[in-house]
Amino acid sequence: MKITMKEVTMKFNDVTALDQLSVDFEPGNLISLLGPSGCGKSTTLFLLAGLHQPTAGEIYFGSQLMNQVRPENRGIGMVFQNYALYPHMTVQENIEFPLKIKKAPEKERARRAMDMAELVKIGELLKRKPRQLSGGQQQRVAIARALAGSPKLLLLDEPLSNLDARLRLETREEIRRIQRETGVTTIFVTHDQEEAMSISDKILIMNAGHQQQFCPPQEMYEKPANAFVAAFLGNPPINLMEAVCTDAGMPGIRLHTMEHAVPLTDVFREALPTGQRCQAGIRPEDWFVTNDTAHTAFTGKVIHKETIGRDTLIRIERDGVFVRALVQPQANILLGDSISLGVQSGKMKLFHIDTGKAYA
Ligand code: ATP
Repeated sequence: MKITMKEVTMKFNDVTALDQLSVDFEPGNLISLLGPSGCGKSTTLFLLAGLHQPTAGEIYFGSQLMNQVRPENRGIGMVFQNYALYPHMTVQENIEFPLKIKKAPEKERARRAMDMAELVKIGELLKRKPRQLSGGQQQRVAIARALAGSPKLLLLDEPLSNLDARLRLETREEIRRIQRETGVTTIFVTHDQEEAMSISDKILIMNAGHQQQFCPPQEMYEKPANAFVAAFLGNPPINLMEAVCTDAGMPGIRLHTMEHAVPLTDVFREALPTGQRCQAGIRPEDWFVTNDTAHTAFTGKVIHKETIGRDTLIRIERDGVFVRALVQPQANILLGDSISLGVQSGKMKLFHIDTGKAYA
């Protein structure tokens, strides 16, 4: 079912938690709501669940206006970070609960609980109480319970945050599998960019109640709408530094206090006149080590070096400006070396110096 939010605003007294959010969530998609603490993720989820009434704007499920529809009549399943299982009930009773409320016959409830337990792979745990389960198992029960009532929309509020790193990884893969198998439209709240990148069809990234970008993860990584999005995605993070557009025979971008300019690619030429200051963004993996001044974008002294999986992460410094780069271990770079880095063709991102808006 398609979900539409149309200019939805939510105010709590003088705090605007959500400011004119307009977005369409496609049927069967898994959408992550991503952003820093306080950006309005949970507020958005609560609005969809009907637990808050918007101050302004409209929410549609399909073509039906939902603003006045009570939470229990919205056809949603919800999973919270603390699982919120009923401690005195068995796993089976927990999963059956939404069906009991709907007064479904006992036999049907039991069959559905069994099916859901198998879907989330806890079929052998039906007779246990929640306290006899691990965190990961409890989370599966919570998901089974949320799905038992055949919701049209599944809302997950930071469902992995109480799990350890390895279980987080396994459980997020499981959530993706279950979501694909059931085809239920799912909204997944997280502040973890890696989680959002790995699990979603699309990411809605927000900051201080404002939508920043809404698109598939790879597109967001490669073409961030602004410097905030660029900085929020990626680990190690993107390098952002001041730059200026020059024209010494050919349009180019000079980073920081560098003498040399990197040729300006066609996409930026029209937007950036000579002398225009801007913010350049270069991801750590988009540098290459070079001895050729014609390719040099940044030169500095290596002040830190560490191994990250197959790559080596180095930090280089020049006049108080720091740059992170991922390089091949074979490059044999030593602490204290002075090295030059070039930027892979087409990989430099440029943002407006004041607004942070992307130029291309
Ligand atoms: P977190 O990642 O910390 O959960 P979030 O992105 O989910 O954050 P929200 O919980 O949606 O953020 O909060 C958005 C803003 O609205 C915050 O400034 C918060 O303090 C405020 N807010 C949320 N709920 C209420 C409330 N019931 N009363 C007053 N202010 C609220």
